[in-house]
Order: sequence, then C-alpha cells, then structure tokens
Amino acid sequence: MSVAYKLQSNDIEVFYEKTSSSFLISKTVCSACESLWAHRINQCIFCGTRNYFIWICKECKNHVSLTSSSTETCSECGAKNSYLKSCFNDNCISNKDEELVNIIKDIENSKLGSFDKASPFKISQNFCIECANETNVIKSKELIVKDIELEKEFSFSDYSKLILDYDYVIVYSLDTSKFFLFSKENNEVNFLDDINVDIFFRIN
Ligand SMILES: [Zn+2]
Ligand SMILES: [Zn+2]
Ligand SMILES: [Zn+2]
Repeated sequence: MSVAYKLQSNDIEVFYEKTSSSFLISKTVCSACESLWAHRINQCIFCGTRNYFIWICKECKNHVSLTSSSTETCSECGAKNSYLKSCFNDNCISNKDEELVNIIKDIENSKLGSFDKASPFKISQNFCIECANETNVIKSKELIVKDIELEKEFSFSDYSKLILDYDYVIVYSLDTSKFFLFSKENNEVNFLDDINVDIFFRIN
C-alpha cells in the first residue's frame, strides 16, 4: 500500500492492524523541539558529529559520497587508498590525536575510519541534532485508509463519522490518484495529489 511506503520512507513506523484494516503510525521525536529522532543516524562517539555517509581523503580532506563508484584514487589530490569513513569534524580527536588515529586504524572493525560499518566508535543518536536536548518521545497516531472505488455505498458523512475513531481517515481514489484527508482538527475535505506526511506529526 503506497501510503505505508511513503510513511516508512519518512522515518515513520507503520503497524497494520488486521481486524480493523487500520494503521498505527509512530515517530520518535525530540521531547523539546519535536524534530525527528532517528536511531539509525549515527554520531561520532568522541565529538557527537553525525555520520554524513561520506568518504574523506585523509591527505587533502576532499570528500565524496559513500556511493561513489571509485575510491581507490582521490579525485582531488591523486593519493591512493586515502579515503576513510572518518568523522566530518576536523577538530575531532579521532582526526587530530595521532595515537587515537592509529588505534582506530588498527582495529579491524574501524580500519576504514570511525564510521566504518561495524566501528565501535559510532553510536546511535543520543541527543537532538537541532537543539541538543537528550530525551525523546514516541508520538503515535491511528489512521485508516479507504479506497473510494471499493466503498461506493460510503458517503462523506460516513467518513466524517469514522474520524471519531481515528486520528486521520485517508480516502484514496485509485481512478484519479487523489486523496481526501479527514482529520479531527480539520473536517473540510481536502483534495490532494500527494500526501505530505509532515501533517501527521505536526506540533500541536
Ligand atoms: Zn568526531
Ligand atoms: Zn585527497
Ligand atoms: Zn530538539
């Protein structure tokens, strides 16, 4: 179901409730500023800088994306095998302290840098990237999706009754690829070409 994929790609967890064909969606956010809290984001254990998923040339600091096809030769300075998944912060001790640099390099799991795949020098997000607050909360909403072409006997008033049981009712038309979205706050019918998933976890 396309709505579920869209939600999942926006870091929203989606749980399908079979008996009622509804969804429970949840998102972890900062308890202070409500910005997204993604456990899959890694931070440097030494300085807290987030993992930008890049290769950094240890000779010239040139950086290229992790998906870059060739990292054997630096495209900037021509150094061989100089790209590391190191911390983006030049002043981080993992880049500055020579002893530490060597320790990181000598450990099999971090030989390609402190953000190497199994590196012990990265941790999952433990403070908010936006405001540095250290606690998070899980917000959840219930929603139900109805295919308008399959529910011909349903009328708009039925949908607005459904909203009493759910936070959101999404009415989808496969024929026109349009959505109607009902919410408790907003009972006017909005015709949408696409779903802006931000609305589900708007600060209230
Ligand atoms: Zn660092
Ligand atoms: Zn280089
Ligand atoms: Zn925050």
